[in-house]
Amino acid sequence: MLYEGKAKKIFATADADTVLVEYKDEATAFDGTKRGVIQSKGIVNNRMSAALFALLESEGVPTHFIKTIDGRSMLVKRLQIIPVEVVVRNRVAGSLATRLGLPEGTALRSPILETYYKSDELHDPMVCDSHILVMGWATPAQLQRIKELALRVNEVLRPFFLDRSLELVDFKLEFGLYKGEVVLGDEISPDTCRLWDIRTGEKMDKDRFRRDLGGEREAYVEVLQRIEGGVHDV
Ligand code: UDP
Repeated sequence: MLYEGKAKKIFATADADTVLVEYKDEATAFDGTKRGVIQSKGIVNNRMSAALFALLESEGVPTHFIKTIDGRSMLVKRLQIIPVEVVVRNRVAGSLATRLGLPEGTALRSPILETYYKSDELHDPMVCDSHILVMGWATPAQLQRIKELALRVNEVLRPFFLDRSLELVDFKLEFGLYKGEVVLGDEISPDTCRLWDIRTGEKMDKDRFRRDLGGEREAYVEVLQRIEGGVHDV
């Protein structure tokens, strides 16, 4: 094992260019101060990420995904992580509602893209382009590519989810370098996306855990089933 994070374990493989990602059921929120377990979350996040990475690859977005290994794990390219978290928003929610004093659910005329410095000690502060460039976290060309890819991911995923009666409210992406190229890494799951059911308005994501709404497992499994297009065992 190379690393154990809040929601994933990373293992080395015989190939120095690849690593194995294992998704855990443990859930954390509010900077790790709230902890719990969402049964089967690891399975949902692994299968959902695999499906979405494959979709994005087919739409021209380079990702770290290579193949699924088993229910909870996937083989990925070993990236040199760029320490910037990119959030794309289609509707006001979460920290944006708090920061700007806007009601959750307020529509946005076009997507908002935000960047945060990936640092647990500093609680992931929001940063702007100057910070990223001057600190040398990314070159101008890499930063431009990150933004272009993040907005492209939004363009691909929004209609994909809408076809499954889910609104993609916002999501977080991480990127890294692989052989000099900017590649999408990390995961795309109900842990990292806000997904609202378009008919009921129900939250189908980690806000169920953050806000003690209950039914986390059921919501995660429902999202996976809508993505996989049928009833598969979880
Ligand atoms: N997000 C994430 N990891 C983080 C922070 C945010 O995956 O460390 C996701 C979150 O699930 C949501 C989006 O990014 O889909 C925007 O999150 P926000 O800034 O509103 O923060 P939150 O209020 O969720 O902490």
